[in-house]
Amino acid sequence: MIRIHGDFIGGNIRVSEIYGDRVLLQNELRDTVGDWFYWAFCVEGAEGRELRFELGQNRIGYFGPAVSYDLCEWHWLGKCEGNSFVYHFGENESRVYFAHHMLYHPARFFSLCQRLGLQTDELCKSRKGRSVPCLYIGEGKRSIIFCARHHACESTGSYVMEGIIEELASSPIENARSLFVPFVDFDGVVDGDQGKSRYPHDHNRDYTDEPLYPEVRAICEYREKHGSTLGFDLHSPWHKGGVNDKIFVVRNMCEKAHRFDEFSALLESEITESSMKYSHTNDFPPLTAWNQPSANFAYTTNSRPDCRLAFSLESAYFGTEDDRVSGAKLVELGRCFARAVKKYFLEAEI
Ligand SMILES: [Zn+2]
Repeated sequence: MIRIHGDFIGGNIRVSEIYGDRVLLQNELRDTVGDWFYWAFCVEGAEGRELRFELGQNRIGYFGPAVSYDLCEWHWLGKCEGNSFVYHFGENESRVYFAHHMLYHPARFFSLCQRLGLQTDELCKSRKGRSVPCLYIGEGKRSIIFCARHHACESTGSYVMEGIIEELASSPIENARSLFVPFVDFDGVVDGDQGKSRYPHDHNRDYTDEPLYPEVRAICEYREKHGSTLGFDLHSPWHKGGVNDKIFVVRNMCEKAHRFDEFSALLESEITESSMKYSHTNDFPPLTAWNQPSANFAYTTNSRPDCRLAFSLESAYFGTEDDRVSGAKLVELGRCFARAVKKYFLEAEI
């Protein structure tokens, strides 16, 4: 008996119809206003079968779905036609996970911290009563805040954060305390929500006088109490195409153009062969298209008088033919990013 479901952390699917070997699927938007593309499902009991999974438009990336057997290691299935993909289940494949992109299971964050001997902390309780994890690295007067998953589905940011944590755990920034919030919308990550454009607004539009979400309230209180010399928010962009296939900094303030230039040059110089590529030429200019001032983490942090620089870093879901996304390359990007932050910190004499 085949079972197709989203009953796991990050799961998101609705089975519309099954016709023989054809499975018609839809992703669940839940409280997202407008269209979005995230989905993730599990197939059990299909050993030896070949099934065709059909999703809607803008649901499958350049290299087919991401595939996993354990929700930890992911690989691309490979190119597929249009809005569907075919999978041949091996005789021993009793459980296979498929997703729009490579998920990042919260357990991976906890085992990372365990491996590095880092003690996690509780940022706050989520709306659904879950303990929202956070982590501190280093000690000092200066405060740096790293966030990921303001938009629940944007897991490429979590891989980048893993690399940053690895790098800073082995050599912390002098005279600075870094706060890491790996899953700002923790309920959304666990429940498999899109998280983007939630009604009435999502976590990254909640930096108002009265935040709706406890995680944002806790970050605001921390920022007030400890300051925010630097702030970095790790995101994934839209599904695919154009700049969405790249790694880019969202430059959010014309007045700080030279600081963005300085940082981007440092990041370029730190990028290694095994990292996702980065070029400042892909950075997104301020006051352009969707990049307008709003109640988001990066803009409100960068607007604070104590803040030297704050921005969102967007990392593609799939990349390009000559620079395909993998977990390892995103983690290495994070290490490169952390080294750039360290250099920036020293060179700017913060
Ligand atoms: Zn985002």
